[in-house]
Amino acid sequence: MHFNAFTVPDIPLVEEGDDLAETICKNARLCDRDIVVIASTVVAKAEGRVARLADIAPSNRAIAIAERNESDSRFVQAVLDESEEILLESPFLLVKTRNGNICVNAGIDGSNIDSGRIILLPEDSDGSAKNIREDIFSMTGKTVSVIITDTNGRAFRDGQIGVAIGISGITPTKDWRGSCDLFGNVLEVANEAVVDEIAAAANLLFGEGSDGTPVVVIRGLDFHAEAEGIGGIYFPESDDVIRNALVRG
Ligand code: GDP
Ligand code: MN
Ligand code: MN
Repeated sequence: MHFNAFTVPDIPLVEEGDDLAETICKNARLCDRDIVVIASTVVAKAEGRVARLADIAPSNRAIAIAERNESDSRFVQAVLDESEEILLESPFLLVKTRNGNICVNAGIDGSNIDSGRIILLPEDSDGSAKNIREDIFSMTGKTVSVIITDTNGRAFRDGQIGVAIGISGITPTKDWRGSCDLFGNVLEVANEAVVDEIAAAANLLFGEGSDGTPVVVIRGLDFHAEAEGIGGIYFPESDDVIRNALVRG
């Protein structure tokens, strides 16, 4: 078995108002069932989800957190503004974003943007994925899946990987429960987070720095589904043992 993964060439520096779907269709010949994986940073830029630090007035709370964490109070204010819940305040801000992802600094990024500006996450990553998927269909007639990713750290492990934060045309997990292993044992737990595995694979080609390759096409994995939204990958609060341990102590 095999699959292919390739970067889409010639993506310019993305600015507010750019039509990402058009850029992708112009620079890649897409096929039915391709999975188009896009780094959130360019989706955010296209959507104008960029802020200027100089325009942010930090609250007393942001100033206190920034002092404790040795960070910029305006950056901290942006993180607070983008967060639905704070799970850890120090030594770094671990928060739940409005999209549901629990991550450091609400996914706000000071890299791959000119100094003094920061990139927020897309307002609604699932909605962004859906729009891009629909636009690709109207431009090419091809039915693809779209995954929007961010680079996140993990609990318990050093190093960061690509994770999915918004999806369209694919289900977040492949449920193995009820099927058998090599010895006929029924699998009771296995529910494979395929969108995260695909995000991590694509991230290998994105790079984190100056590569300028924010879009990867994955071809040869058959995970297409007429489905929307990544919500199912986040635990409901009652089942989120680690979150509850952090919040309740
Ligand atoms: P994130 O993981 O979504 O936060 O994005 P990164 O900052 O890690 O960037 C992922 C990839 O996108 C890297 O190859 C960057 O060089 C590239 N990238 C970021 N912004 C742009 C842009 O505006 N245009 C192009 N062509 N590439 C970009
Ligand atoms: Mn990021
Ligand atoms: Mn990254």
